[in-house]
Amino acid sequence: MMKNYACLQCSPDERTIFRHKGLCHECTQYDSEGGVVEPVYRVRTDEYGNPIERIRAERPPVNRSGIPQNVGFRQPRKPTKKQLQREETYARIAQEVPVPTMAETLAGGEEE
Ligand SMILES: [Zn+2]
Repeated sequence: MMKNYACLQCSPDERTIFRHKGLCHECTQYDSEGGVVEPVYRVRTDEYGNPIERIRAERPPVNRSGIPQNVGFRQPRKPTKKQLQREETYARIAQEVPVPTMAETLAGGEEE
């Protein structure tokens, strides 16, 4: 696919289509020494100079091994052995407490 770039600040009938991204030399303001004062960038357009939406590939971020990584979301941690033991203790205690529904809920994980 051909890539076209044009400056949207130039009027459409004067708009020049470029093959490369960069500054529009017509609209960019330079100082007397040729330094850029106010850059005006060309944007992706179709071959007629109409701006097109930049299509960004929705790709999940991957880590160095190429495995998709959830950034910003912490993976639910596996409970440690200690935590499991503690939960079992709670479950056992709960079973001794005369609240049958609670005991069921808490003891539910014990069957593995
Ligand atoms: Zn321009």
